[in-house]
Amino acid sequence: MEQKQTINFGPGPAKLPQSVLLQAQKELVNYNGIGISVLEMSHRSSDFSKILSSTESLLRELLNIPDNYKVMFLQGGGSGQFSAVPLNLIGLKEDNCADYIVTGTWSERAAKEAAKYGKVNIVHPKLDKYTKIPDPSSWTLNPSSSLFYYGCNETVHGGGYNITRKQNGVVLVSDMSSNFLSRPVDVSKFGLIFAGAQKNVGCAGVTVVIVREDLLGHALNECPIVLDYKVQATNNSLYNTPPCFSIYIMGLVLEWIKNNGGTAAMEKLNKHKSSMIYDIINVSNGFYACPVDVACRSRMNVPFRVGKKEGDEALEKKFLDGALKRGMISLKGHRSVGGIRASLYNAVTLEDAQALATYMKEFLKEHQ
Ligand code: PMP
Repeated sequence: MEQKQTINFGPGPAKLPQSVLLQAQKELVNYNGIGISVLEMSHRSSDFSKILSSTESLLRELLNIPDNYKVMFLQGGGSGQFSAVPLNLIGLKEDNCADYIVTGTWSERAAKEAAKYGKVNIVHPKLDKYTKIPDPSSWTLNPSSSLFYYGCNETVHGGGYNITRKQNGVVLVSDMSSNFLSRPVDVSKFGLIFAGAQKNVGCAGVTVVIVREDLLGHALNECPIVLDYKVQATNNSLYNTPPCFSIYIMGLVLEWIKNNGGTAAMEKLNKHKSSMIYDIINVSNGFYACPVDVACRSRMNVPFRVGKKEGDEALEKKFLDGALKRGMISLKGHRSVGGIRASLYNAVTLEDAQALATYMKEFLKEHQ
């Protein structure tokens, strides 16, 4: 089998481990000798039940998920969860309020969606740019809130945020879509964690929700039944047809993570890869500039400008063209922020990151 020459730094859907793709290819037409594809299989068949339960077991093992948490595999993406979280949890207290931290595009969207279903309190002064998390001393929490929400990794702006302490004694909810399984996480600190699969743990179509059991059963009347956690958890994610193939791919990726040392090994690898890129930015004398505060820099998405602090667009185009010539794709920053963004999810290898680092050094030397 010919090795792929393209290095994919895409923000998601993103690179998958080569061995996962090859296994999926091998099994595509005839899964496990049963004569049909996973794509054709009933979601209620014993073969799919095995795929579903082994995927859940692997996830429980990799994250050490306590027994009093339910795991669901749902449709609707991370955006679906922006609605599902308030629809299911904002009614935990009678005033229907929620505290939100807004540190980037995705938490901003989540807070906006939640405001359809209750009162949203953004706990900190509004940020004029998304480069850090405001100091907790500036937060004003609402004592009536049912939940405290934050985005653990802001994919567009490149911020990584770590809150594990209960705020106001209410449930902590976190969107881990873009750093899920990139490191160990103490699930017991959270009421709910959700993550779309298409960055670190598979392909688009499935979103994992991990929720503490006692939080089920509080959905608002208007909650669509497919988003109702109690209904989905009671039916083991099979109330309606789940995204079967995406769950199967996730199972293969989880197996790959396990075989490669689990979340601790992923963390080590991700620290190594991201520091290689940040180190070049740091010593480039301002030629490369990352706007994010050093303490909040994401290990998954590294955004930077080229040429000067606010970016030299012509030089950035040259950078991207040169990268493309070397087989490095999807390095263009999100259209809302411009510049470059290198996404370094689990499947991006050390060699991939090294190739980018080498190119960055050469480009710097040539254009400084
Ligand atoms: N949260 C984060 C952190 C994301 O990066 C994204 C998508 N890039 C979403 C939520 C939305 O996910 P989806 O497109 O699956 O709805």
